[in-house]
Amino acid sequence: MGGNRRRHGWTRREALQSLALAGAAAAWSPRSLAQDGGRRIGVALVGLGHYSRDLLAPALQLTRHCRLAGLVTGSPDKLPEWQGTYAIPDRNVYSYDDFHRIADNPDIDAVYIVTPNHLHKPQTLTAAAAGKHVWCEKPMAMDAAEGEAMVKACRDHKVQLTIGYRMQHEPNTRRFMAMAKERPFGRIIKLRADAGWFGWRNGADDAWRLDPARGGGAMYDMGVYCVNAVRYSTGMEPLAISAVDETVRRDIFKAVDETMRFRLEFPEDIVAECVTSFGRNVNTLQIDCERGWYTMTPFQGYEGNAGRASDGTVFTPQLGKTPRMQAEQMDQDALAILGNTAPRVPGEVGVADMRVVDAAFASARENGKRVEIVQG
Ligand code: NAD
Repeated sequence: MGGNRRRHGWTRREALQSLALAGAAAAWSPRSLAQDGGRRIGVALVGLGHYSRDLLAPALQLTRHCRLAGLVTGSPDKLPEWQGTYAIPDRNVYSYDDFHRIADNPDIDAVYIVTPNHLHKPQTLTAAAAGKHVWCEKPMAMDAAEGEAMVKACRDHKVQLTIGYRMQHEPNTRRFMAMAKERPFGRIIKLRADAGWFGWRNGADDAWRLDPARGGGAMYDMGVYCVNAVRYSTGMEPLAISAVDETVRRDIFKAVDETMRFRLEFPEDIVAECVTSFGRNVNTLQIDCERGWYTMTPFQGYEGNAGRASDGTVFTPQLGKTPRMQAEQMDQDALAILGNTAPRVPGEVGVADMRVVDAAFASARENGKRVEIVQG
C-alpha cells in the first residue's frame, strides 16, 4: 500500500477533474518531448482494484508519454464505469482467461499488473509471452525464485520488466540515493526504516491481505519498502537478517504477519533496524552517519515526502499532489520503452528485495535466528 490509503472509489467527477488536470501536466513535467515523435505508450491495467482505480488510472491522465488503452479484469460489472470514464473500446477489454489474446492488439504496448501478489508471476509470464512490456506492482512476487522466472521470461521475450517502486522516481528519494555514493556526513553507521499503516479497525476488509496463499501480510505489503529503502540508501546488499514476528491481533492476523521487526547487517558494519506493520502508522527513514544524519518522513507517502539533515538542509516535497508521483513513474518507464534504455527499477531490483524477504520469513520461523542472504 501507499502511505495515505484511501478506500472510497474514484468517482466520475474526480476522473473528469483529473482529465482536465492532464492539460496542466505539460507545465509541471520537467522533461522534454517523448523521444519517439510524441508517441504514447498504450498501457493496459491488469486488476481494477484500489490502486488501479484511485491512483494509476487518474495518474495515467497526467502522463505525457502514456495513455490508458486497455483493461484486464475478472469483474465485468466494473467495466461500464471504467470504459465510460476512460473511453476504452470493447476490443481492448480482456478477462484473466483471455488475457493472452492481448498479443494481437497493437494499441497495447505495456501491461501494468496490479493484482494480489500471488498473481504477479503468472500474469507477467502471460504478458511477456504476448510480447508486451511488463510493469508489475510490489512485491514483485511471492519469493525470489518466482521473481527470477519473471526476469527470465521478460528477457527471453525481449520485453522490459519494471517494478512499481514509485519512490525511486521521487526527487528527494533520488537525492538520498545519490547520497549513498556521496556520503556527505561520512561513513553510514545505522539506518532505520519503519513502514506501516493501521488497518482492519472494523474487522473484515481486504481478505487477500490476510491470506498467505495470496501474498498477504505486512512484510510483503510494506516491508518491501523498508528493504528497498535501506538498499538504495546504502547502495549495498545486506549480508544477513534477523526477523521477529510481533503480531498482536491474532484474531485478525491468523496466518500472516501483522508486524515484523527485522535487523539487517550490511558490509562496513552498517546495520538497519526496520519495522513493518498493519497495526502501526509508521513511515520514517533515517540514516545516521559518523558526522551527521538525514531523515525523511513520510518516506513512501503518495505525496508530501519531506526530509531534513543535521546540517540544516531541508528536503521539501517535490512532485505536488497525488497522483503525480505515479504519473512521473509511468512516464519514466514509458521513456525507457520508447528509447529502448534500461528502466530505473528493473525486475532485478525486485528479485534482490525478494531474497531479503525470503530470508526474513526463514528467520522469523526460527524466532529471529540470524540468516545469511545470498544475492545471485
Ligand atoms: P485490491 O484488493 O484493492 O485490488 C486487487 C484487484 O485484484 C481487485 O480488483 C480484485 O478483484 C482483483 N483480483 C483478481 N484476482 C483476485 C484474487 N484471487 N483475490 C483477490 N483479488 C483478486 O488491492 P490493491 O490495493 O489495488 O493492490 C493490488 C497490488 O498493488 C498489490 O500487489 C499491492 O501490493 C500493490 N499496491 C501498490 C501500491 C503502491 O503504492 N505502489 C499501493 C497499493 C497497492
